[in-house]
Amino acid sequence: MTDSQDLFEAAGQPPLGPTGRLMPHIPEPSPPQPGGRALVLAMCNQKGGVGKTTTVINLGAALAETGRRVLLVDFDPQGSLTVGLGFNAHELELSVYHLLMDGDARLPDVLLHTRTSNLDLLPSNIDLSAAEMRLVTEVGREQALARVLRPVLADYDVILVDCQPSLGLLAVNALTAANGVIIPLECEYFALRGVALLQETIEKVRERTNFDLQIVGLLGTMYDGRTLHAREVLQTLVEGWGDTVFHTVIRRTVKFSDSTVAGEPILSYAPASAGSESYRQLAREVLARCPGA
Ligand code: ADP
Ligand code: MG
Repeated sequence: MTDSQDLFEAAGQPPLGPTGRLMPHIPEPSPPQPGGRALVLAMCNQKGGVGKTTTVINLGAALAETGRRVLLVDFDPQGSLTVGLGFNAHELELSVYHLLMDGDARLPDVLLHTRTSNLDLLPSNIDLSAAEMRLVTEVGREQALARVLRPVLADYDVILVDCQPSLGLLAVNALTAANGVIIPLECEYFALRGVALLQETIEKVRERTNFDLQIVGLLGTMYDGRTLHAREVLQTLVEGWGDTVFHTVIRRTVKFSDSTVAGEPILSYAPASAGSESYRQLAREVLARCPGA
């Protein structure tokens, strides 16, 4: 707890959240609406190690807990999402690569069901790195992922795309297929440096291939409330981005790497942990910002 928060509580004021703003009431999500089209969200930041994959796994699991049908798309040739959900990325016969490049590959043949109910995966591995080069010469190269996902939009409530740490053609494909972007940022100095560049890419995609693309929110990850600088980073983030910054902040805890090693979301590995609760709260915030999902 921060000193300023102590002061607020002593003065009888409602407590501030970790981002330094008053914590609003985040409503319980309504049940999923039948008959809609999936909300597609891209998890994007060209910096590696900021919590993209961890957020896709655990936000996905938290949304699945609300009864939503969730599809996760591994769109990083490193295959961390695939591995983090307990699959062997090297041994995949079919992956997202084949859906992008091979007209004969069928999505149901690539789809994997995870051990979490309502949570499916389109897996990837190193093969995907070839897609970036091969797509360059294709007609409609920016829309390849959107084409892959179109047939299953009615089968899911939410689709989360885990992007690779770059702003290349794969990221542009994810942004083109998406309704919204979530940008995870490590609560460290310099975390904000790359955001301007990412924002430029988002603007270009908006102008050229996806007019309706929204930034759903910026998410502070690996937060350590005991350090002054983590609090300062969040403060700077809120000064620049205001209420685009999620009130939910993900704290730093080793449970995330432990659950990745176990090949499952923290929501099943340690359901009552603070990390699980944070991702449940993030799911509520995302659903409050994206009505209809
Ligand atoms: P990215 O996909 O952006 O490269 P990851 O989600 O793979 O980032 O996270 C990078 C590393 O940090 C992983 O080992 C992951 O387990 C760990 N990690 C992610 N979020 C947290 C957190 N909140 N606290 C501690 N470690 C985390
Ligand atoms: Mg990743």
